Amino acid sequence: MILSIHLILQEVFGYDAFRGPQQAIIEHVVAGGDALVLMPTGGGKSLCYQIPAIAREQAGQGITVVISPLIALMHDQVGALHEAGIKAEFLNSTLSGEQATQVERRLLRGDITLLYAAPERVTTPRFLAQLDSLYERGKLSLFAIDEAHCVSQWGHDFRPEYRALTVLHERYGSVPRIALTATADALTRADIVERLQLQDARLFISSFDRPNISYTIVEKRDATQQLLRFITSEHMGDAGIVYCQSRKRVEDIANLLCDEGIAALPYHAGLEAKVRQANQDQFLRSEGIVMVATIAFGMGIDKPDVRFVAHLDMPKNIEGYYQETGRAGRDGQAAQAWMCYGLQDVVNQRRMIDESPAGEEFKQGLRGKLDALLGLAEATDCRRVRLLHYFDEESKACGNCDNCLHPPAVWDGTDAARKLLSTIYRVQQMGGSYGAVHIMDILRGKSTEKVTQRGHETLSTFGIGADLSEVQLRGVLRQLIAIGAVAVDAQAFNTLQLTDASRAVLRGEVPVQLRASVSSPAERKAKRSS
Ligand code: ADP
Ligand code: ZN
Repeated sequence: MILSIHLILQEVFGYDAFRGPQQAIIEHVVAGGDALVLMPTGGGKSLCYQIPAIAREQAGQGITVVISPLIALMHDQVGALHEAGIKAEFLNSTLSGEQATQVERRLLRGDITLLYAAPERVTTPRFLAQLDSLYERGKLSLFAIDEAHCVSQWGHDFRPEYRALTVLHERYGSVPRIALTATADALTRADIVERLQLQDARLFISSFDRPNISYTIVEKRDATQQLLRFITSEHMGDAGIVYCQSRKRVEDIANLLCDEGIAALPYHAGLEAKVRQANQDQFLRSEGIVMVATIAFGMGIDKPDVRFVAHLDMPKNIEGYYQETGRAGRDGQAAQAWMCYGLQDVVNQRRMIDESPAGEEFKQGLRGKLDALLGLAEATDCRRVRLLHYFDEESKACGNCDNCLHPPAVWDGTDAARKLLSTIYRVQQMGGSYGAVHIMDILRGKSTEKVTQRGHETLSTFGIGADLSEVQLRGVLRQLIAIGAVAVDAQAFNTLQLTDASRAVLRGEVPVQLRASVSSPAERKAKRSS
């Protein structure tokens, strides 16, 4: 008998109803369609391929191969499926040769419903030969590619092995594929489609909102004291994660927190594997542990009652920030995302990009992503609106973030923004596109060689921003980028481009607000004359 997908949901998994877009996705995949699923962590991606795998197997269509980069996650899922009475196995480096051979035998017999495999395994000649055999017999039902952003160098954990997965489409064209990820900015998404040849896949995007997480971003003054105040005043006894940039800082902060009576443990890739595992186990099992960690910690960690995620240093981009803060409040109860950022973070991140061996175009892309995060950090309006906007999702002010709860003092950068946009417009009229430095040089009336050469001293906007500091102009520019009124063309050396949204700002219809901590021209003048 073939069970309906509702029955599978209830009988096998014990849930009453589908969540969000699960049903639409599952129906589409059961019917043999390709899908690209963007769903935040905790949204319920697994069922989107597990139920189709079971339904299609029962319909005689054979085996589903799940490609996953995370060994721990494979083990958890296979364990859970066994408990539900489903034939699931995994093939990865933790199996002995003998165990692997046994799984392979069952695979060829068609005695497995879901097979989890690491990407590097899937593309070996040996494994492909086994898939060939299943395919020829019509027993290859579905490919599920989990953590699909790993295929993109724009994702935060690029895995070169994912690139080779195009072989699945080329070799087994009639087998449907579902790719899933929780990382979904436009650039990564486009890259996944192209790299995995999912042009014909239906796109399912869930809301990325995590309404129970309250976002706070503060400027760095004395970071460790700020962190300490945050934890002692709001989260004593709570489980939390503190992300730091370096291993040394992880150690220092973990010690400092312990000295202050906070149960903290360190986690970074430089620790012995045994210690790392022990600390992770303790964090998962005990209550109220604060894990101080580098970003090495967290992928695949499913601890429901993490009450806060703190960033003591700024991450690389919004996806990283979103992914890491998303580990808070998976139980749906109130949780906090707290970040502390300063100019030094920006300088460090920039330097890491500049010094990386990557190509120039790629580096420009990374810089653009960093700027977007900075735009979020400096925003004076709702953090959630900004965050969701980054994932192309419109929303209303949340009333639950720092800016909503305590609107920051702002200065009006509208005039400065108009000057900036006019300058971009005018140089384009003269037939060129330029990056931020050149545009700001014109505005501030600096007769650099480039300015003179291009004849930009003759522009009417030359020198009209002389009362603004470079820092202020950068602040204005970041705001404009953040609200989409300036586009940074990563394909063309980060040149600044006007957008549809520019016009409204130029006309003065959209106010541009900056945090008052970036002092206003009037304040600076007062300071200079005092
Ligand atoms: P993701 O892979 O998107 O991070 P999971 O697939 O691990 O999310 O699901 C997150 C949690 O939600 C799991 O505990 C899962 O059992 C639960 N879940 C998923 N779908 C449903 C549903 N329809 N009803 C109730 N719980 C669900
Ligand atoms: Zn808000």
